[in-house]
Amino acid sequence: MRPDTVFIGSEIYRTSRYGRRHPLAIPRVSTVMDLCRALGWLDDSSYLESPLATVDELARFHDRDYIAAVMAAERTQKATPELIAKHNIGKLENPVYGEIFRRPATAVGASLLAADLVAGDRVRRVHTPAGGTHHGRPDRASGFCYFNDPVLAILRLQDRGVGRIAYVDVDAHHCDGVEDATHADPTVLTLSTHEHGRWPHRLDTPHRQTATVGNYPLPRGAGDSAFRHVLEHGLLPRVVAFKPDVVIMQCGADALADDPLSRLALSNRAIWRAVRAIDRIAPRLIVLGGGGYNPWSVARCWTGIWGALAGFARPSRLPGGAERILRDLTWHRQAGRNPPDHWFTTLADTPGEGRVPDAVLALTTPTVEV
Ligand SMILES: [Zn+2]
Repeated sequence: MRPDTVFIGSEIYRTSRYGRRHPLAIPRVSTVMDLCRALGWLDDSSYLESPLATVDELARFHDRDYIAAVMAAERTQKATPELIAKHNIGKLENPVYGEIFRRPATAVGASLLAADLVAGDRVRRVHTPAGGTHHGRPDRASGFCYFNDPVLAILRLQDRGVGRIAYVDVDAHHCDGVEDATHADPTVLTLSTHEHGRWPHRLDTPHRQTATVGNYPLPRGAGDSAFRHVLEHGLLPRVVAFKPDVVIMQCGADALADDPLSRLALSNRAIWRAVRAIDRIAPRLIVLGGGGYNPWSVARCWTGIWGALAGFARPSRLPGGAERILRDLTWHRQAGRNPPDHWFTTLADTPGEGRVPDAVLALTTPTVEV
């Protein structure tokens, strides 16, 4: 285990759910913690329990009346008309649920701690899989995200004197909340791969392409070869040229082929390759989670990320304890009724190689406005 590499988790994710029918009705972070421990990859020397972000910390990006409204929603468990209209909370997408304040505030606490750690001398890499809520807005929830931990981590790094920050987001959805917050800052590079046309739904506002913003929308069905092309010809050269002091990577697992909410077809090997490649060029690295709505594919992907960051060799077949954790998961969707065996017995997916579509080849010579 690398001594300069830290995992931040929390027990809050073991029981907290957004509601029975919500895509986040599944366990994610707690399964990753259990799997990593079952593999012997996580012990007390590398694990930190996430602190809860304070109101003042959240207010570095979020409006105080919004923070107060989320706290009130946790107390009352009621969706008032004002909460729905003003803050986009209380309907199907962003429901009122038991830990509506504490859960996202814990994810923010972890990302702030990650920023503090990599701004210091001892820690080079942090994995906080609860982070990555990239749609959150200053005054409202969006796309299952109540607070925006990536933006708050970027601001914390800047408050700690870090000069240049690259943010690389490989979630299936566009990182609209982060891009809108950072695009005018010349010291922050924001890069995103995502499924074309999936998010945001306002197609009249195309994603920016500037000297510090790069968007790589992937066509439906894009797999490992397409993603690798964008990684090697888009993401990596731009990060290297930017010379960041810290890289934050958002690794939503919803671009994987087994995810129910997108139409991309990556294998988890493609994500791991990207994490390893970014790790080689980043002086300091924070890896966040993000989307991911199939409990098996999320757990296997993010566990493999921790293994790659901490320097462990991946077993081709999982040991019995790890396999039992995966076999004990349940999922109310159709695909959960008869899961394929490799969701229980391996971490790595079958590679999703194929031809690189012309639309993807065209992405790596973007028009750059300056
Ligand atoms: Zn997503």
